[in-house]
Amino acid sequence: MLSSRRVLRLLISTRSHGPGREGVDLNRRQLIRAAGAAAFLLPVPGIFGRAAAQPVSRVRPGDPAWPSAALWDRLKRDVGGRLIEIRSPFGVCRDDPVGLPCDELFGELKNPYYVGDDPALTQTAGWVDAWTAQPSVYAVAAETAADVAGAVNFARDNNLRLVVKGGSHSYLGTSNAPASLLVWTRRMNAITPPRVSRRRVAPRRCRPFRSARVRSGCTSTTR
Ligand SMILES: Cc1cc2nc3c(=O)[nH]c(=O)nc-3n(C[C@H](O)[C@H](O)[C@H](O)COP(=O)(O)OP(=O)(O)OC[C@H]3O[C@@H](n4cnc5c(N)ncnc54)[C@H](O)[C@@H]3O)c2cc1C
Repeated sequence: MLSSRRVLRLLISTRSHGPGREGVDLNRRQLIRAAGAAAFLLPVPGIFGRAAAQPVSRVRPGDPAWPSAALWDRLKRDVGGRLIEIRSPFGVCRDDPVGLPCDELFGELKNPYYVGDDPALTQTAGWVDAWTAQPSVYAVAAETAADVAGAVNFARDNNLRLVVKGGSHSYLGTSNAPASLLVWTRRMNAITPPRVSRRRVAPRRCRPFRSARVRSGCTSTTR
């Protein structure tokens, strides 16, 4: 069996042979054989290596590494007070399933604007029960790019699960996750009217056309 070092030596030697025809054929054969062996033998760092590595485990509430109240306070300061501790509105139904507050909640749930304005809720119940909506623990109700950066940095530094939600319409449930920090971009919905420019954006012999720049709250500039 070829060792990794031998495979490497073969690969290197195929590149250093002279230009003779015989040498070229031999090199090609050696190269193919070496490359095939390399796929099995060489430890491949990066994507393949990581795919086979252990699954990533995030910190969850109750874990010793879950951020302290002081750390959450600091994040709150960093994002201009726009950190929300999420409470599911379904709490009222757990307390009293037949009470008026629960009835009223189910009335409100028919209103997509009500659902969209609550970071605990999603607009869809999932594809044929493929997933169950789960609120995050905290949400940064982002209004600026710095808010988003603050939340992402905090999640990375504390190994937290991070989820992003805009309109909460994801059929696949990709905008909610339990035990996570949510970057909630719902409020980043400003659209700046187009600034029409007369820049020439066509080749010299074509007629120039106008380009418009539209700036939206949470995405980049489009033309
Ligand atoms: C009731 C309903 C009606 C629908 N009607 C239509 C329709 O008429 N036409 C149509 O085309 N589609 C429709 N859809 C599908 C919907 O448009 C898509 O599911 C779309 O992805 C929803 O975007 P969202 O931002 O509201 O969803 P979200 O659930 O908030 O986000 C969707 C995905 O984008 C990510 N994301 C959200 N915001 C950001 C951000 N700022 N930066 C980076 N990632 C982000 C989330 O993490 C998630 O993975 C409908 C869905 C529902 C539930």
